Amino acid sequence: MEGGHYPLRAKEISTLVVNLGNRCNLRCSHCFVEASPERTEEMSLETVNKVLDVLRENPEITLLEVMGGAPELSPHFRYIVKSALELGKDVKVPSNLAVYFEPGMEDIPRFLAENQVKILASLPHYTEEVVDRQRGQGTYKKAVAALKMLNELGYGREGTALELDILFNPAGTSLAPDQQMLEKAFKDNLMQMHGITFNHLYALTNIPAGRLGKSLSREEKDAYMRELREKYNPETVKTLMCSYLISVSPEGRLFDCDCAQMLGVPLKNGDLSIDEFDYGMLSRREIATTQQCFTCTVGIGQSCGDVPELEHSVA
Ligand code: SF4
Ligand code: SF4
Repeated sequence: MEGGHYPLRAKEISTLVVNLGNRCNLRCSHCFVEASPERTEEMSLETVNKVLDVLRENPEITLLEVMGGAPELSPHFRYIVKSALELGKDVKVPSNLAVYFEPGMEDIPRFLAENQVKILASLPHYTEEVVDRQRGQGTYKKAVAALKMLNELGYGREGTALELDILFNPAGTSLAPDQQMLEKAFKDNLMQMHGITFNHLYALTNIPAGRLGKSLSREEKDAYMRELREKYNPETVKTLMCSYLISVSPEGRLFDCDCAQMLGVPLKNGDLSIDEFDYGMLSRREIATTQQCFTCTVGIGQSCGDVPELEHSVA
């Protein structure tokens, strides 16, 4: 990492990010996981229980983030959410929204509301044209219907504890506009067009790997990486996700973050599994950085809320 921040070191682990599997009802053009309905990787019940053991044994971990693919499609989704809540953890679930219209998923919004689970709803734009181009025909209408349903349950409404945030990602290799400006544009447009409200918007930068990576020529990829490097903001290093989380793959392997998981970059300490979880060692680990880390250090960074108060966590 440039700017005198190398090597990067974790500071603590307050969040466990668990990938329940790469199956998804969508097949988005930017997806670095290359998730789709045909993917079969799935976390077993045995591994889910090991994850719960780690949560139980480590009170410092206060948040479980359940991701996928579409995490709701996992047969263990409700079990892991309920069990983590019973252990006193907060739970956050990223959702593509359209998944609520898949068979058997209809009551997921109510389940999440009853359990006060935070939702990070991915929506790449407030217009139908852009969303359907990136995520597939008909996904915008489903997303709008889902957001309205969540609002009716109290999500994203003032005076309720039900948090609904929007995750924005740009198309292809464009960089996200200013996050505050974008949040205002989304709030104004979604309210005006559909009467939809939400709490916060987080703007992400696309990772040039997976489906997006394969669609780019060598020159396009180089130009994108060059732009990310040129726009490096050292301030973002204070709140890098890898400073405070560990990511668990469907097979139970541990990684510095989702990006490292998808790229297959093991921890610097070795290729460890959930059975070998050692809080003391992992919370002081050196991070295995790659070129892709520049997607986290552009603009204001890649953190989606709940960034713990960290001291400068790099050596
Ligand atoms: S970006 Fe998200 S919603 Fe789209 S295919 Fe990938 S996992 Fe599914
Ligand atoms: S890509 Fe992962 S390891 Fe690299 S800076 Fe971002 S969160 Fe950290």
